[in-house]
Amino acid sequence: MDVHTIADLGPDERSALFDRDAGVEAVRDDVQDIVSQVREEGDVALRRFASEFDGVEVGNVDITDAAERAYEEVDDDVRAAIEDAAENIRAFHERQVPEDWREDFEGRELGRRYRPLDSAGVYAPGGTAAYPSSALMGVIPAKVAGVEHVAVATPPAETVNPVTLAAIHVAGADAVYQVGGAQAIAALAYGTETVNATDIVVGPGNRWVTAAKAEVRGDVAIDFLAGPSEIMVVADATADPELVAADLVAQAEHDENASVVAVTDDEGVAEAVAESVEEQAGEREREAVIRAALESDASGVFRARSMSEAVLFAEEYAAEHLSIQAEDDEELLERIPSAGSAFLGPYSPVAAGDYAAGTNHVLPTGGAARVTGGLSVDTFVRSTTVQRLSEDSLSDISETITTLAEAEGLEGHAESVRKRFE
Ligand code: NAD
Repeated sequence: MDVHTIADLGPDERSALFDRDAGVEAVRDDVQDIVSQVREEGDVALRRFASEFDGVEVGNVDITDAAERAYEEVDDDVRAAIEDAAENIRAFHERQVPEDWREDFEGRELGRRYRPLDSAGVYAPGGTAAYPSSALMGVIPAKVAGVEHVAVATPPAETVNPVTLAAIHVAGADAVYQVGGAQAIAALAYGTETVNATDIVVGPGNRWVTAAKAEVRGDVAIDFLAGPSEIMVVADATADPELVAADLVAQAEHDENASVVAVTDDEGVAEAVAESVEEQAGEREREAVIRAALESDASGVFRARSMSEAVLFAEEYAAEHLSIQAEDDEELLERIPSAGSAFLGPYSPVAAGDYAAGTNHVLPTGGAARVTGGLSVDTFVRSTTVQRLSEDSLSDISETITTLAEAEGLEGHAESVRKRFE
């Protein structure tokens, strides 16, 4: 892995880092085509794409019954790990449930009311690796929010991964479909003969999944674009280069389109991280995927002249995962508002949040962390503002209302207030 100096980066190198899209744009046309075929042909298109992209002849698209069976059949230790992780994820998300409130504002009773969406479609990836963890991360917050109908789509296989199915069961999904990629997103958004259309489509995935979410957005709500994984490690001289490298390699393992970055003000740490990444990559089973991700123009080890420069770099990158392995981690975090999820200190590997710390691992990529956080209970609730005015409190603001209404040329608005006092 190369070590770059931030001060020497040219405009093209900066753009590759900060405007990264993980290959999503390149598949946009193909994805538009897939989405329109699903809209036109429904289940027929789902079966055709399963054969073409997943190499599977799908009979029943609906495999809801298989989830409970898989739960009974998986190894005891795997079942216990799923239940452990689910419990931690549930506890963290229960803390997020918003409460309705009403307050008095000088006689005006104002408040907010929160209600769950009616239905949600969760994508649980499963192309080059299985993602039972993503099933937990998508379904549990929806159920905690109170969504009545939660459907999961996951790629088809001769036998769909039983651990993913068991996790879907533990999380409490109501329907499970074997359909992957862009066609899954289209099915959850528009519906087919078998798949019910949902109010919101959420979840992570590769570039086809991500491009499809961008395509259906507007016709249906989505969470945000949660594409190929990213990590930014901000390290100072106190960081352990082997641990920094281990976190980079772990995220690179997800996808050849993953982006992994470390930034430090310490030359020795920069060199040691780059060296250790090479060494550890060679020891991993998914070495080819890792090496492809390491070669991305959006990946690298970067040398800053100061921690202030490192912080500005991390903020501009707006990573999905931000790991701070430095003495003043809290102070540095304060200066990096844009990050999907932050991991502080040497004992908080990103893998903890990926599986079992309790936080959500469905997180914004491609710089979307500048404007949004990750999946949460908020994703699955709608809010309504409520007001009840008394005669006196309306009278108190009637002059303000009528003056503004007339200034806007909307006489009817003004009259609707005056009539109350005739
Ligand atoms: P996936 O389920 O996302 O993708 C598999 C599907 O891709 C297949 O079912 C197939 O339909 C489709 N596909 C594959 N090749 C295709 C082609 N040539 N044309 C059209 N469609 C094609 O599984 P994956 O590939 O293992 O990727 C999982 C992704 O999820 C990784 O990129 C990982 O980094 C990401 N992820 C992101 C987050 C996040 O929150 N941002 C969290 C977890 C995982």
